Amino acid sequence: MDKIASPNKTKEIIQEYQFKFSKSLGQNFLIDKNILEKIVQAAEITEEDYVIEIGPGIGSLTQHIADKCRKIVAVEIDKHLLPILAKTLVEYDNIEVIHGDVLKVDLHKLIQDRFQGQKVKVIGNLPYYVTTPIVMKLLEEKVPISSMTIMIQQEVAQRMEAKPSTKDYGALSIAVQYYCQPKILLKVPPTVFIPQPKVSSTIIRLDILERPRVYVENEKLFFRIIKDAFGKRRKTLLNALSTGTLKLNKDLVKEALTTADIDGNRRGETLSIQEFAKLANILAEKM
Ligand code: SAM
Repeated sequence: MDKIASPNKTKEIIQEYQFKFSKSLGQNFLIDKNILEKIVQAAEITEEDYVIEIGPGIGSLTQHIADKCRKIVAVEIDKHLLPILAKTLVEYDNIEVIHGDVLKVDLHKLIQDRFQGQKVKVIGNLPYYVTTPIVMKLLEEKVPISSMTIMIQQEVAQRMEAKPSTKDYGALSIAVQYYCQPKILLKVPPTVFIPQPKVSSTIIRLDILERPRVYVENEKLFFRIIKDAFGKRRKTLLNALSTGTLKLNKDLVKEALTTADIDGNRRGETLSIQEFAKLANILAEKM
């Protein structure tokens, strides 16, 4: 079968199966072969690689990945796409499609069963309504993956890569950078999708670090401190932390900030991930 990724071929398949796009499932299918190849190139797949694709749609990206990798498991939530995928991917013997919600699938078990527990590369033109939950699930559950090469909404990609004291820097920047080295690779216009999304998209690669970027004694506390620090962006760090969800005693926060050598009049958005870790580790000892 010819490759799917052209506007005509995609429309033909959609028509043949009377497929109805679901906006609520974030269905915007890629119709540009060059962009598909850019995603595959960015992932640096070799024939040794095992890949998990999130949301194969009608299989256009899946085909391009399968040409390069050893084996790919694609997880698709929409049962209406399964008969289409069965046809578009029929010529490949290294693709398995799993029907399911990637947020609910036990990925540790999947990797153990399908890939003998070996590290995998994750690739996907992600559904934009659940980008952050998907990325955070993979990172927080410490699924054995080496990288994620994903197409996501441009502004979310900018937040993932943002540095302190910039407008995009926030809790997501720190969460992603705690686990990964992010790299924005390419901005993609809405015209390469059917239907066209209202926003611009970006291909970003997240290389998972061997161990988190900073040493943190109590991860739960670390992320709660970050949440509080950014929850009230206009407040000083001292006020944000002593009136936030952690309800920390003001004197305790003052003391911890002094020990960490951080000025309490600064705002959370100016703190580096290292400074947040230092503060969290001091508070963990004092609490
Ligand atoms: N990979 C295809 C492409 O590039 O043309 C489709 C990408 S489309 C942006 C997102 C795909 O993810 C859709 O096929 C959608 O049905 C699927 N999807 C949405 N939510 C999902 C979830 N929670 N788990 C698995 N797949 C999901």
